[in-house]
Amino acid sequence: MNPVKPMFNSQLNADLHCHSVVSDGTLTPEVLAPRAKANGVELWSLTDHDEIGGQDRALAAAKALNMPYLTGTEISVTFAGHTVHIVGLGFDHHNSNLTQGLRQTRGGREERAREMSNGLAKVGIHGAYEGALKFAGNPELISRTHFARFMVESGVCQDTSEVFRRFLTENKPGYVPHRWASLKEAVQWITQAQGIAVIAHPARYRFTPNEEYALFTEFKNHGGQAVEVVTGSHTAAEALRYASTALEFGLAASRGSDFHSPDESHTDLGSLPFLPSQLTPVWALLADRIQ
Ligand code: AMP
Ligand code: MN
Ligand code: MN
Ligand code: MN
Repeated sequence: MNPVKPMFNSQLNADLHCHSVVSDGTLTPEVLAPRAKANGVELWSLTDHDEIGGQDRALAAAKALNMPYLTGTEISVTFAGHTVHIVGLGFDHHNSNLTQGLRQTRGGREERAREMSNGLAKVGIHGAYEGALKFAGNPELISRTHFARFMVESGVCQDTSEVFRRFLTENKPGYVPHRWASLKEAVQWITQAQGIAVIAHPARYRFTPNEEYALFTEFKNHGGQAVEVVTGSHTAAEALRYASTALEFGLAASRGSDFHSPDESHTDLGSLPFLPSQLTPVWALLADRIQ
């Protein structure tokens, strides 16, 4: 038996993208880990938005279950006027450049949340900042998701997707544009901490073909090495499309559910198709970072 070989296998139930209460998920790292294990996850990463405060907890919970673990985060980036998410995997989570960069990225969230609340008040929805804050497990990470949960609880909308559609997306009353980190910064924070940068759910961005080409080209030039191909945010057709993009740009491929909550997420931890076998799985580049 060769214990290393499975990690080079594209047919591995790896789930390298999900969220806990440390960002905008509803479960703790200690509850996510056994859920992943029960769903057959063979390699796991917790990738909270702009925050690595849950990494020691996730690692300890995974170790207790004998489930291989990679450190993770999902960094918010502004590129060509759009918000893009860059996942980092397998980095040293004590790296000071990375921890300072993430702290800086989290910095503008409270002010943005207050502006969102003001926008919502103008259309008759009052107390949204305080309401959202009650749902935020980490006050530094108050996000649109917490506003959405507050507005479902208070009966304004039936579910969180309706809140996003009606209130929290561009040109809607609770939407406040925000300047996140640059693509270069995010990729460098990750790679300088010995991690691998991954373009998250590329089908979710509304880029023109030229803008998308620029994103992939610049990402590679800054040292990015992988793209999410199989994710809870992609249809089967989108996964195929980005499998081609991965080959075209010489990028490794990642796989992750983007699970946030049993009540909101349609893709559970570990419940995804395998990566197409012609791709290089990102975990093949991270074998020595798996804990
Ligand atoms: P923020 O970082 O505050 O802009 O919030 C972004 C988060 O909102 C994402 O990570 C998703 O969890 C969630 N989100 C974005 N768009 C939608 C949507 N259309 N429906 C439900 N959740 C969404
Ligand atoms: Mn989220
Ligand atoms: Mn994302
Ligand atoms: Mn995510």
